[in-house]
Amino acid sequence: MARYTGAVCRQCRREGQKLFLKGERCYSDKCSVGVRAYAPGQHGQGRKKSSEYGLQLRAKQTARRFYGVQENQFHHYFEIAERKQGVTGDNLLQILESRLDNVVYRARFASSRAEARQLVGHGHFEVNGKRVDIASYLLKAGEVVSICEKSRGSEKFKAIVEANGAKPVPAWMDVDREKLSVKVLNLPNREQIEAPVDEQLIVEYYSR
Ligand code: SF4
Repeated sequence: MARYTGAVCRQCRREGQKLFLKGERCYSDKCSVGVRAYAPGQHGQGRKKSSEYGLQLRAKQTARRFYGVQENQFHHYFEIAERKQGVTGDNLLQILESRLDNVVYRARFASSRAEARQLVGHGHFEVNGKRVDIASYLLKAGEVVSICEKSRGSEKFKAIVEANGAKPVPAWMDVDREKLSVKVLNLPNREQIEAPVDEQLIVEYYSR
């Protein structure tokens, strides 16, 4: 399935909640969820009641959009989560959180996951000292992500770090603002993951 190229805010309105896809705008009163609190499209203000399947589908779509993952890849993550020991829903969220683009965003080295994905793709980041330009790279506990030497002094990064530096970062990572690096201390458990997602509904969606 091709990447979604329509208006980003429509995705939040479709899911009826903020998914924080656009950086600073999401924290302002320009956010479309506040301005037009109904689903997009001709029937957006119509029927609200959902079937069981509808709820499961929305939960899956919310998670997929929140993390910016395409359908095939999301399903692939679900299959990995199912094979791992433990609770499938928790495993799925842990895998999504361990993506390189997510860690860059959570560490506040980008304003949104989309921006993080672009910066990673342009080769601005290293993992354990080696350049990695694959946004879906899955990090392990102990790995260190840093901004490449060459990119550190750029105005773009200075502006991003300045704008986002005061925002909180999750307890499962250790961010060094001087060295512009982040160490993954451990992969997060469910309590450490802030995501507007009901993972149990996603498990039910794929178990139909
Ligand atoms: Fe979603 Fe951000 Fe757009 Fe608000 S501004 S609708 S949170 S992408």
